[in-house]
Amino acid sequence: ELEADSVVELFRRRVAERPDAPQLHYFGTTLDRAEVDRLSDAFAAGLERRGVGAGDRVAIALQNTPVCVLAVLAVWKLGGTVVPVNPMYKERELAHLLTDSGARVLVAHPAARGVVAALPAGSTPGHVLYSRDGALAADLTGPWPDDADDDVLAIFKEGGAPRAPASPGPDDAALLSYTSGTTGPAKGAINLHRNLAYQVGACRTWIGLGDGDSILTVAPLFHITGLAMHLALGLGGGLPLVLTYRFDARTAAALVERYRPTFTIGSITAFIALLAEPATRDHDLSSLTKVLSGGAPVPAATVRRFADEFGVYIHNAYGLTETTSAAVAVPLGTRAPVDETSGALAIGVPLPSVHVEIRGDDGRPLPPGEVGELAIGGPQVAAGYWNKPEQTRAAFPEGTLLSGDVGFMDTAGWVYLVDRKKDMIVAAGYKIWPREVEDVLYEHPAVREAAVVGVPDPYRGETVRAFVSLRPGATATETELRDFCRARLAVYKAPAQVLIEDDLPKSVTGKILRRELRDAPVEP
Ligand code: ATP
Repeated sequence: ELEADSVVELFRRRVAERPDAPQLHYFGTTLDRAEVDRLSDAFAAGLERRGVGAGDRVAIALQNTPVCVLAVLAVWKLGGTVVPVNPMYKERELAHLLTDSGARVLVAHPAARGVVAALPAGSTPGHVLYSRDGALAADLTGPWPDDADDDVLAIFKEGGAPRAPASPGPDDAALLSYTSGTTGPAKGAINLHRNLAYQVGACRTWIGLGDGDSILTVAPLFHITGLAMHLALGLGGGLPLVLTYRFDARTAAALVERYRPTFTIGSITAFIALLAEPATRDHDLSSLTKVLSGGAPVPAATVRRFADEFGVYIHNAYGLTETTSAAVAVPLGTRAPVDETSGALAIGVPLPSVHVEIRGDDGRPLPPGEVGELAIGGPQVAAGYWNKPEQTRAAFPEGTLLSGDVGFMDTAGWVYLVDRKKDMIVAAGYKIWPREVEDVLYEHPAVREAAVVGVPDPYRGETVRAFVSLRPGATATETELRDFCRARLAVYKAPAQVLIEDDLPKSVTGKILRRELRDAPVEP
C-alpha cells in the first residue's frame, strides 16, 4: 500500500522527524532538511506571485544543482506539474516542450537567454526565471549577494511561503517527462504523485536504504531516473543527495571521496568512466557499495570485470520513463544469473508491486523461456501521454504498459532482455539482436564500449556493422575484432564490418545512441 500520497507529504514528515539532517551536499555547501523546506517555500511563494497554482505546468531546465531540487519541490508544494527540460536544448526542442505542455513559467540558466530570445512567437512562457545555480551554491545559506542576473536568488531573499500551499493528491500529475522523440514528436509521459511515492517506498525497502545512506546523483535531474531515483528518493526517503552539477568522472570521484555516498544509479557508461579510468584511480570510492545501472544494456562481461577488478558489483536495473524509472532490478546483495543458451545477463526481478508479463504477437501471455514483448503493470506505471489519447490507448492498454522491449522470463521469475523491438536487424531473412553481438564484443579485453547496428545492404536487406571504442592503452585491429566475433557467433550474426572509434555517441543519460551510428556516413 501507499505510505503517503506524494513525495511532498513524505518530505514534510522527514522534516518533522529530523529538521537538521543534511539533505543536499553541493561542492562545500550543505543544506539541511529545514533549510530545503524553507527555501522551497520561498520559491513556491515566488512562483505563486507569478500566477502558478494547482495543475499548472512549470518547465525546469537546470543541471543537478540545489536550485533544481528546490524548484521541483516548490512546484509540487503548489500542486503544480514539473516539466523537466534538458538545459542543452535549442529553440526548436524547447519550443515544442513549452507549447505542448503549456508551461506558465520556465526556470533556466542565464546561458539559455539566447535560446529563449529565439523562441518562435507564441511559445514563450509568461515568465522566465534565471538561476545561475552552479556558481552561487554557498550563497544559498546567506548572506545574499547582489546579483542582478539571478531571479531565483532575488526570490530567496524575499522569503515567505505560498498563501495556498497544496497537498498533491495521489492521482495528480507530478511530472510531464518528455521522451527523447525518436519515433515522432516528443511525448510527455504523465508521472503521477503516487507513481513517485510508490517508487520511494519500493526502493527503500528493496534496495535496503536507510539511516547512513546517501545518494550520488549520477543521472541528470531533468530525466526520469534522476527525478525518481535521486530527487524523490532523497527528499521522500530522508537520504542526503550529493549533487554533481553534471556528471563527469573526475569530479564525481572527488565528491565520492569527500561526502562518502553509498548508493547510486546511472548508466553503465558512467560507471565505466567512474570506476575504470586512470583519472579516478587515486580517489577512495569504497563508500559506493549499492550501485545500480539502468537505462541501457549492462553487458555480463563488464559486470564481471567490475566485480573482479574494483570489488563493486553492478546491479542491473531496467525501466522506462513510462514506468517512472526502475521496474525490474537485481535485488541488492544478489547476483543476477546468466542465461545458459543466450549468455544474456538477467535484468532482475520485478520490483515489489510491479507485474511483468511476456506477451506474444497476439497479445497473449507466453510461458517461461519464450521470447515476447514485456508488458508492465503496477503502481509506478505512468497515467499515459499528455494530450495524446490515441498513443496512450496504444501503449497503455488497460493501464498496462507495452514496453517495446523484447525479452523472456525464467521459471524462477528472473527477467531477461533480448533487445528493443525496433532495433532488430534482419539480414538475408535472419533475425539478429544487436545486443547479443555487443555482448560478444564486450568479452574482448581491449573493448571499452560497443554498439551494433543494421545498415542497408543491396543483397541482404541489412548487414551487421559494429562500432567499438578501446580501453585506454589497449590495442586491437578491426580484423582481429571481426574474427573474434566470427569465432563466437553464427556467421550471419558476426559483423561484416567493425569500426574502431575514439568515442561512441551518447545521450545525456549515457545511453549509446545506436540510431546515430546507424545513420552515420562511413568511409568505404
Ligand atoms: P525514447 O523513447 O524517446 O526514444 P528512450 O527509449 O531512451 O527514449 P527511456 O525511457 O529513457 O527512453 O529508456 C527506456 C528504454 O531503455 C527501455 O525501453 C529499454 O530499451 C532501455 N533500458 C532500460 N534499462 C535497461 C537495462 N537494464 N538493460 C537494457 N536496456 C534497458
